[in-house]
Amino acid sequence: MPIANLGPGQTAPNILDHLESLRTKDVRWRDGRCFTLAYSAGPDVLALAEESYRRFSGENALNTSAFPSLRDMQQEVVDVVTSWTHGDDITAGFMTSGGTESLVLAVRAARKRAEREGRNLTRMNMVLPSSAHAAFEKGADYFDVESRRVPVGADWKADVEAMRNACDDETVLIVGSAPQYPQGVIDPIASIAKIAADRNINCHVDACMGGVTLTYLERLGEPIAPWDFRCDGVTSISVDLHKYGYTSKGSGVLLHRNKTLRSDQTFITDNWLGGMYGSSGILGTKSGGPIASSWAVMHYLGDNGYERVTQSARQSTMRIYEHLNAHPDLVVRALPDSTLISFGTQDPNRHDVFAIADHLISAGWYLDKQTPPASIHLTVNAIHEPLIEEFLADLDRAVQQVGSLKGSSGSYATTE
Ligand SMILES: *Cc1c(COP(=O)(O)O)cnc(C)c1O
Repeated sequence: MPIANLGPGQTAPNILDHLESLRTKDVRWRDGRCFTLAYSAGPDVLALAEESYRRFSGENALNTSAFPSLRDMQQEVVDVVTSWTHGDDITAGFMTSGGTESLVLAVRAARKRAEREGRNLTRMNMVLPSSAHAAFEKGADYFDVESRRVPVGADWKADVEAMRNACDDETVLIVGSAPQYPQGVIDPIASIAKIAADRNINCHVDACMGGVTLTYLERLGEPIAPWDFRCDGVTSISVDLHKYGYTSKGSGVLLHRNKTLRSDQTFITDNWLGGMYGSSGILGTKSGGPIASSWAVMHYLGDNGYERVTQSARQSTMRIYEHLNAHPDLVVRALPDSTLISFGTQDPNRHDVFAIADHLISAGWYLDKQTPPASIHLTVNAIHEPLIEEFLADLDRAVQQVGSLKGSSGSYATTE
């Protein structure tokens, strides 16, 4: 039988049983054993996220005049993220399907702005630190903008002077991250934005990871340098809700300083036989699921809930940091500015960090292997708190096992 043959219809219970059996080898993120890709603030939050998603999964935000419910929910979500990022009543944005769509659109908006302002450019470029997210490369590829990556400093943060020097008359966009993903540090946003203000070009702040966390860490009294619309020159900010907003997947927000800048993101045409067609982002049909899920979870957690889950994730991160920092064989890449942490080994000849990662994965954990340099990367969130000591004990055991397997002969290939 050809594998593409669908065969006769089956019963719903059979299909649901089959679906459950398909997922038996998936990572156990709901149990807090996964340090990447998935986020949980507990079973009650997940249940609400999933139920609100289910109820609006068939609704379509492509045309919100047919679904005023989605228009209102989206606007409320955008308004809350505007207040988190210290925007004002001229800040304008839309929900996106997540960080990648937001960043791709930020690149597109920078190109459109240059065209709208009549700048006569032959090969537009964007200047960004080597640490900025891979999705900027996707945007550069889609919209034919040269990507000028500038090496980060020894502290893994953007090198502002080198970025300034990398700009020229064809530069349309400059980027900072709060925090950047690989080492979890916040770029000097105010100084990066100043370059953009001086050159009158776009400055995007990628707060996909940190937008929620930094907001609530600051409210909890942690000293955090301004990273948002408080910085002159910042023209757009992305914040993902399907990460530390703890909503269902497919939810981010892209904000612009004003509606004119937002008009560089949107698309409208009547050049076909179907009439006027406008859309806020890359998607046409846009499921109501992520919108309803975001609206529901944000109202469920509220400010007090976000303070609680932010504090929990932050404390777990710092507990891991202290353990790694005191460990004779491990080395932390940077003091975490939020809830991301990466580490390697003191002597890669003796301890291959990816072998340590593999031991942890066999022990039922899941985490990211990252290069360069060869490191383990952890995205710590609210679900992890009760499991941190168990994780650290398993980590210590994995380090020992890898060390004793290799002895001190140094005969293994280095990974760094
Ligand atoms: C996750 C992430 C992105 C990409 O977002 P997706 O939701 O995975 O598309 C962009 N920037 C940063 C800093 C991220 O952590």
